[in-house]
Amino acid sequence: MAETTSSQQARAAGASSRRSVRGAPSSGRGGRGWLAGISDALVSVFFPAGCRICEELLTSASRVPICEECLASFCPVPKIACEVCGRPLAGLTPEPGSVRNEGRALLCPACRDKTYAFERARSFAVYEGALVQAILLLKYEQIGPLGAWFAERLAEVVKGQGSALAADVVVPVPLHRRRERERGYNQAALLSKPLAKRLRLPHKAVLLMRTRARPEKQILTLEERWESVRGAFATRPGSQVDNLRVLLLDDVLTTGATLDACARALLEAGAKSVVGLTVARAARNPLPSSSEW
Ligand SMILES: [Zn+2]
Ligand SMILES: [Zn+2]
Repeated sequence: MAETTSSQQARAAGASSRRSVRGAPSSGRGGRGWLAGISDALVSVFFPAGCRICEELLTSASRVPICEECLASFCPVPKIACEVCGRPLAGLTPEPGSVRNEGRALLCPACRDKTYAFERARSFAVYEGALVQAILLLKYEQIGPLGAWFAERLAEVVKGQGSALAADVVVPVPLHRRRERERGYNQAALLSKPLAKRLRLPHKAVLLMRTRARPEKQILTLEERWESVRGAFATRPGSQVDNLRVLLLDDVLTTGATLDACARALLEAGAKSVVGLTVARAARNPLPSSSEW
């Protein structure tokens, strides 16, 4: 818990005056009544803490350590996107090879080349701004309430896709066991577990394993990214995936290489189909001057 300092109090005072200038109570608060208002006020008096992204004093009784403005700043993935991998297509120039003919699916170049083994991938929001920090937070701290908040958004994405993301089982993208031991948890499971509960599906955290660790190097070229995950996953001996439709969960989709490698391992083991779901989706190429494919 952060200690109360005079600078924090000053920030809090500044925050409340800024809010009153705007005069806009946060959306969704209206219906909660005076009791909820009092409980929020008590929380901010007795447990003063700043938003983990913008440091503004948290005034909500929610256990999510990010303020409502930062949460509201996450930008949902645009509707015009590749029908297979969900890559946003609008506004990207040039977009060579993207095709939309009458009766034909809108596909990105990678999906026209049938690059991915997964049937479909979707994400909640674009990997930029505050969302980058929120994802980092989940990588370094096991913040269950934030995982649950994202799981709620992901459940909405699943429902919005109708039968396209239908699944029998929810599986998190695994970390290599050495990495998981160092970190103490798997951040993908922080999302997949509450999501499975919401979707009323079984959660299988140990069905897949990562047999080869990611290289120590922080920044990988696109080729290295694909190379580092190719054949790096396997189903655990004795696990049953026969004929199952698997919903794979991860925090970020960048090149799609990780979801692809997991999907290949699951399909080889007999899974009926694999769909991917991530919190964030990199809209642009992850590295300047290189194309995503
Ligand atoms: Zn904030
Ligand atoms: Zn695509």
